[in-house]
Amino acid sequence: MNLMWFRNDLRIEDNLALCRAMEGGRCKAVYIDSTQQWRMHDESAVKRAFINRHLQTLSDQLAVLGVRLEVIEGSSFNAEVDIILQYYRQHNIETIFANSEPEINEIRRDNLLLSHGVNVQFIETDVAITKGSVVAGHGGMFKVFTPFKIAWVKLAKQSSFVPYQAPTSLGAIEPLPLPEKTVSERISTMLDAWPLVSQVREKGLDKFFDYQHDNYHQQRDFPALNATSKLSPYLVIGAISVKEIINYLLYRNPFIFEDIKSPQFAWLNELIWRDFYRHLQFHFPQLAMGKCFQQRYENMTWRNDEHQFTAWCEGRTGYPIVDAAMKQLLSTGWMHNRLRMIVASFLTKHLLIDWRWGEQFFMQHLIDGDLSANNGGWQWAASTGCDAQPYFRIFNPIRQSERFDPNGDFIRIYLPELINVPDKQIHFPHDYLKKNDLSATYYPPIVEHKAAREKALSFYKKYA
Ligand code: FAD
Repeated sequence: MNLMWFRNDLRIEDNLALCRAMEGGRCKAVYIDSTQQWRMHDESAVKRAFINRHLQTLSDQLAVLGVRLEVIEGSSFNAEVDIILQYYRQHNIETIFANSEPEINEIRRDNLLLSHGVNVQFIETDVAITKGSVVAGHGGMFKVFTPFKIAWVKLAKQSSFVPYQAPTSLGAIEPLPLPEKTVSERISTMLDAWPLVSQVREKGLDKFFDYQHDNYHQQRDFPALNATSKLSPYLVIGAISVKEIINYLLYRNPFIFEDIKSPQFAWLNELIWRDFYRHLQFHFPQLAMGKCFQQRYENMTWRNDEHQFTAWCEGRTGYPIVDAAMKQLLSTGWMHNRLRMIVASFLTKHLLIDWRWGEQFFMQHLIDGDLSANNGGWQWAASTGCDAQPYFRIFNPIRQSERFDPNGDFIRIYLPELINVPDKQIHFPHDYLKKNDLSATYYPPIVEHKAAREKALSFYKKYA
């Protein structure tokens, strides 16, 4: 009897650990729901609910394969090890199989399990190209994305992305009922926007490739357009594997690896960024401990004004693109990538608030919260990261808004109080509102852009 321990790999397709676990002919499966640990990791309620929904699907699919999924309530990662050990002994398990996770606490947990001398096999399936294999001439990790990408593509050309099929059924059984979880109405409404992964596989991927993929390079930065794949929540919980997605991309674009400058490469480029940040976690585990990638920025004395932070969190900065973006996050659990860059830049550069505060707030609210990508994105915006935005490049939120939401269509969705402001004025509506005696309808700007920019430049210069 083998044991499959599910973690961030809630799928039966392309799940090598599951295939191995079922090879012996008898297999049990567990998932441990460790509330205290999730809280420590700031996982959002919407992400937990999204996971629970997919656990139900997984349980049903596994039952058809003849494997019973047991969801066990846990607390911390240490307690997870105890639960697994107890399970191992109680059920006379031969080998435990699991897909590995790149984060430091997860690695420590797995090492603790290994230290008990049990038979356990960890398999890496969270990246497209194995961590540690995309290395520079000196054998270390690339510090710049483009050469990493070139080396990644070279390896990808020699790799197979054909996913592992779901294992053959051992004979269908009845699934166990899963623990009941109550979900608030607010979270339930948020989840309505995210179909189950089975629907994404059946229709969503085709739809993206039919209508959006080829225009992605031109439209990806415009939040009012539905131009990106919205696959991130599924990738983060492993409901679909990155390999399966790349295999599908190759099916639709067989020569995608041949020309990294082609417009069609733009979407794959983002999946490579995903790998890049995971490889960075692997080489620099301190990134998961709140450390700046560039150590010289470690001792910055951020201003950290709590009132301004709250205003940013609640979408009350007086900069419509920032406020609309934060409202999108609060009401949907997701935020468009361009907006993530704008609000992260605003928090760190305009308000001089520690990027870690923003990183944590994102994790607490995102449905796709992911340590590597979130940390990478925040450190990129704060200019403290690997191949980050240089510190002197400070997004002007008004210009960004004019460029990427030219008619204010996105802003009007989330800030109905500005619905009647003309397109030209909507990006910074304060003069218009004053002239029309409407100032009370929207928040005054929390900082003045030019002055904030100057302050940020002299602040960062001290450490650069
Ligand atoms: P698409 O544009 O369709 O891209 C396809 C896939 O590529 C995404 O699903 C994602 O897995 C990956 N990807 C895209 N952009 C990036 C990127 N910049 N870095 C790494 N991977 C990328 N992504 C997360 O998955 N979780 C996070 O917690 C997260 N936090 C972020 C925080 C900040 C400050 C920034 C700037 C970016 C963050 N990102 C994060 C990256 C990116 O914003 C999201 O992956 C993307 O918006 C998801 O939408 P999509 O699935 O439609 O992406």
